[in-house]
Amino acid sequence: MKCIWCGKRLDNDGIEKNIYYRELNMDESFHFCCENCKKDFIRYLNDVEKNKNKFLIGLFGLVFIYVVLNIIVSILKFEILSKGILIAFGCLFGILLIRCPYGTPETNKWIGIKNTIKVIRVMSIFIILSSIIFGLIM
Ligand SMILES: [Zn+2]
Repeated sequence: MKCIWCGKRLDNDGIEKNIYYRELNMDESFHFCCENCKKDFIRYLNDVEKNKNKFLIGLFGLVFIYVVLNIIVSILKFEILSKGILIAFGCLFGILLIRCPYGTPETNKWIGIKNTIKVIRVMSIFIILSSIIFGLIM
């Protein structure tokens, strides 16, 4: 059993002391190593609740506009623009993920939400940097 927030392993003694939290509209209960992890987790849940629709619209919107722009660019043979499009969308996508670093339930359970957020933010910076580099050398 691990703390869902920081990923710290909870030993058997800990399990009796550890803090449960049950969202009314969730079937799952979560385990925490301390009150602070629980507090951060609740803040995260509220953030996901508030932003998940915006995040999904943003994500599919970006992919859709990216594809449409690339089709237009290749029809009009403005290939020079595709570098700019790659850089712009790489940055937008990275910024979206930095703002909404929502992982899957599997990764959350595996390494804890706190570490999942870190991994996603590092990946986002990598996406931004590689889109700029590929855009420039392409
Ligand atoms: Zn913890």
